Amino acid sequence: MTAPLTTEFTTVSFLGLGAMGFPMAAHLAARSRDTGGRTLVWNRTPGRAEAHASEFGSVATSLEAAAGADLIVSCLPTSAEVDELLDAVHTHLKPGSVWVDCTSGHPDAAPRQRDRLALAGTRFLDAPVSGGTAAAKTGTLTVMVGGPHGDVEAVRPHLAFAGKLVRVGDTGAGFAVKAVNNALLAVNLWAAGEGLAILGLHGVQLGAALEVINASSGRSNTTENLIPQRVLTREFPATFGLGLLAKDAGIALDMAEAAKGSAPVIAQVTGLYRAAARIVGAQEDHTAALKLIEQMNGIELK
Ligand code: NDP
Repeated sequence: MTAPLTTEFTTVSFLGLGAMGFPMAAHLAARSRDTGGRTLVWNRTPGRAEAHASEFGSVATSLEAAAGADLIVSCLPTSAEVDELLDAVHTHLKPGSVWVDCTSGHPDAAPRQRDRLALAGTRFLDAPVSGGTAAAKTGTLTVMVGGPHGDVEAVRPHLAFAGKLVRVGDTGAGFAVKAVNNALLAVNLWAAGEGLAILGLHGVQLGAALEVINASSGRSNTTENLIPQRVLTREFPATFGLGLLAKDAGIALDMAEAAKGSAPVIAQVTGLYRAAARIVGAQEDHTAALKLIEQMNGIELK
């Protein structure tokens, strides 16, 4: 029988204080301060949790203690790492609690994780986020959630890092929307890189070309923001790993294959980003994928 849902989320915890988790957990800690609750933080490398505690007033704890919270939020690289944590903590969960996974995970993992947690009386919501480290810092992330309506509404006020939160369907739908969103990012970024390489090979000044494209029908977030700020400057600030974007495109491709769908552009782009992650480096910023296009064309996009 399902344990009744906790109505008081007095203790919240955050697992995984990476580029996204660190600033996201800061918003939970600020809310706890305002509401008289507690935010526990755990990170595999403990120094990061201790740094969070001293900067934001959260409490650095063991994984087991964090798992006993009323609301558990996780943000790890992939669903595989979330599975590892579920294995480690399932006896420490509190019946009636909710686990909100903000990892850009795999839709196939979500029902399995939900069922696993249900054995301990804990609800599961897949709730990946969009907006990057900038929106994580300002608490304006877009959150796409899969799971039962009542559970989503119960946690909505507590997810203080969200600027917009949309329930997109049942368990797994959040992961699915995130994968497709990021596959679109991958396609747009790659296509813009190819376009600029062609222009560069023809001696066109790329700043001027982007000024025109951004006032024309070829524009996208990649031409308006990512390429001018990260590629043309040659800065490539590592806020979202190239390996993570390759992973997301691969999830969208898995979804197409599972449904026997036809998505040849996403298939090709997935292969290109996997190659870029291997050749340029999985830890590099995702925009560094364009360095592979540069190598293919013997020019620099600047
Ligand atoms: P990071 O690489 O910056 O952080 C990863 C976090 O996961 C770290 O806290 C790391 O701990 C932890 N971790 C890694 N492996 C394990 C493991 N085996 N067991 C326990 N903890 C582990 O990633 P991001 O914060 O950039 O990304 C997290 C998720 O958010 C990903 O799914 C990504 O696709 C998604 N995302 C990222 C965005 C971005 O702009 N960066 C934007 C939107 C979504 P440790 O410190 O010990 O290494």
